[in-house]
Amino acid sequence: MSRSRPWSRRSVLITAGPTREHLDPIRFMTNGSTGTMGFALARAARARGARVTVVSGPCCAAKKAGVDVVPVVSALDMHRAVLARWRRADVVIGAAAVGDWRFAKPARRKIKRSGEGITLRLVENPDIIADVARRSRRDARRRVIVGFALETDAWLDNARRKLDRKGLDLVVANRPDSMGRGPARAAIVGPDGRRRLPAMDKERLAEEILDAVEERFD
Ligand code: C5P
Repeated sequence: MSRSRPWSRRSVLITAGPTREHLDPIRFMTNGSTGTMGFALARAARARGARVTVVSGPCCAAKKAGVDVVPVVSALDMHRAVLARWRRADVVIGAAAVGDWRFAKPARRKIKRSGEGITLRLVENPDIIADVARRSRRDARRRVIVGFALETDAWLDNARRKLDRKGLDLVVANRPDSMGRGPARAAIVGPDGRRRLPAMDKERLAEEILDAVEERFD
């Protein structure tokens, strides 16, 4: 791979946006992710010459990106789509806000009111980026695997723990006020330390993240 254009001929797989967990055909559980960060990363990687695929949950940014987009709905759909593609990727970035739980028994038809409350059971979704990291460790190809951590407290320590627990190369630590389209205050945490960044928009943050990924190329 060319030293002057380190991203050309590299493949980047990015998850973006929220996931949607259906209770019945009409109702679902989701979160406020807009996909802004994932698609900013996609555009920045493409501008550097990479081949980029985004596996995106249902969000508006998907239509405007000008990169290959694989649309998905639920966390299980996203997991399947990522498992079908991670092997061809040199860089995998988990920017999606994946729902941690899904309904244990989604109904095929709209649930009707019966005059009483109902109890719904949730089961845990697979951790997509941790699963990719685990599989990648057993694979000959070297990859850089990046996750995000959105924390309300002890955000840097929690990000460091996430790096170890999920077996990632980098974690981008964020605060909750970074969600949505506004500027983000983030830190990039790696095995050899962390770099706190000033508040910046997500286009600029995407460039910082790609610079940190690039430092980890052979
Ligand atoms: O554990 P937590 O949800 O805080 O981790 C956030 C990171 O893990 C993000 O990179 C997110 O995309 C990824 N993730 C995932 N699958 C899940 C939960 C989180 O890939 N089920």
